[in-house]
Amino acid sequence: MKYNTRFAPSPTGLAHVGNIRTALFDYLAAKSTGGKFFLRIEDTDRERFVPEAVDYIHQALDWLGLKSDGEVVYQSKRLAMYQGKVRELLDKDLAYKCFCTKERLDDLRQSQEKIGKPPIYDRRCLGLTKTEIREKEEKGESFVIRFRIPNAPEEIFWHDKVRGRVTIATDILEDFIILKSDGWPTYNLAHIIDDYEMGINLVVRGEEFVPSTPKYILVYRAFGWEPPEYAHMPLTLGKDHKKLSKRHGDTAILDYKEKGYLAETMINFLVLLGWNPGGGSTEEFFSLEELKEKFRIEDVNKAPAIFDLERLDWMNGVYIRNLSVKDLTDRLVEFDPSYQKVDREFLERVATVEQSRLKTLSEFKEISDFYFDLTKYEASLLTFKKSTPEATRKGLEASLTELKGNEWGNVEDFESILSKTVNKNQLTNADVYWPVRVALSGKDKSPSPAELLWVLGKDESLKRLLVALNKHIVD
Ligand code: GLU
Repeated sequence: MKYNTRFAPSPTGLAHVGNIRTALFDYLAAKSTGGKFFLRIEDTDRERFVPEAVDYIHQALDWLGLKSDGEVVYQSKRLAMYQGKVRELLDKDLAYKCFCTKERLDDLRQSQEKIGKPPIYDRRCLGLTKTEIREKEEKGESFVIRFRIPNAPEEIFWHDKVRGRVTIATDILEDFIILKSDGWPTYNLAHIIDDYEMGINLVVRGEEFVPSTPKYILVYRAFGWEPPEYAHMPLTLGKDHKKLSKRHGDTAILDYKEKGYLAETMINFLVLLGWNPGGGSTEEFFSLEELKEKFRIEDVNKAPAIFDLERLDWMNGVYIRNLSVKDLTDRLVEFDPSYQKVDREFLERVATVEQSRLKTLSEFKEISDFYFDLTKYEASLLTFKKSTPEATRKGLEASLTELKGNEWGNVEDFESILSKTVNKNQLTNADVYWPVRVALSGKDKSPSPAELLWVLGKDESLKRLLVALNKHIVD
């Protein structure tokens, strides 16, 4: 079965992890079956509309490579179509105008709640005569349009791709609003018309829509349309099994880009929030291309998915380590364009040495600052605890002499020069490796001295060693 799916965000805020996971599942459900994936912006709620949210959705999908297969649909441009469909329902007596005021509905709800009844609209306006309706309209009373739930109670069911058979009785459903008093359709109506009109045959969305799905199936029936298949996604919880919030890192999706997570990590991480390849496989690394082959919507679990930020960091580290140095350097420059000014070969050397330590691209600046400008450090740092100031001085002097007198080559060459320095001068590793490393990095933790020599090159390394020696002697 080829599935045509859509991601249908409401631009009421910046897209979060959960929204984009849905987009990814929608995309994969389509691509893995040879179907099409569409983007629809559900912007009919004019009050909650956040203009920058639309652009944000585009940027997020672009970042992750989830491209819509057709023109993006904006619900705000389809008002006439929705209103035409509402008229159709009114004409068939399957919907009706409701003039009840907010005050009346509030009172009704309160009195129902008092006697422990579910708050359901009591259909007062269903009984209005044509004349009463006309009079109210002439008086300019505002109204909404409600969908009429059929009187005969029944059990509505569907075979959810994730949850199996779901059955919900219609007697708990109320005549819900399909057109608001401002003339705009609600989600309850607009999404159905669009899904039908766009040829969507699989709706992938959050599980919060499960209780409302029978209402939507009734609307399909009212129009005489076949409902799509449904796949309701599991919740995403924090590691403490509580609702995902900012505290767990549930921030706007592009924050992850800004923090230096790679798009491919994000795809991999998001897909595992609910999906696994099944069949007892323990594989956990998947590219988008692989997922287009392997993903099956039926393999999504209905149990809540756990969002684990530490796992994301770990996974991003793995992805970074698997990049070629050239690719990593390109990404570092793209991430922070100020690196465009840095000599490319030098930057590639820094990237080579630091690659294994990086968990995010954003860490690079802090980790690597000392290559560009020697960090200030205390002279006392030059002497390791297993050495003495005198032996350290000798170690630095001997290293300078050896390094000046030898050819400059690769990391292994520097390792042998340093080990020669130790042996030739009856010094210990602590008298040579440590002070040379501190001299070059200004830090107590850094890559090995041989790696630093290779990155910094002859002039800069010798300069730093001299600075260290002077510092040490003066101290
Ligand atoms: N606009 C709805 C939302 O963002 C879409 C739900 C759906 O996918 O049908 O929650």
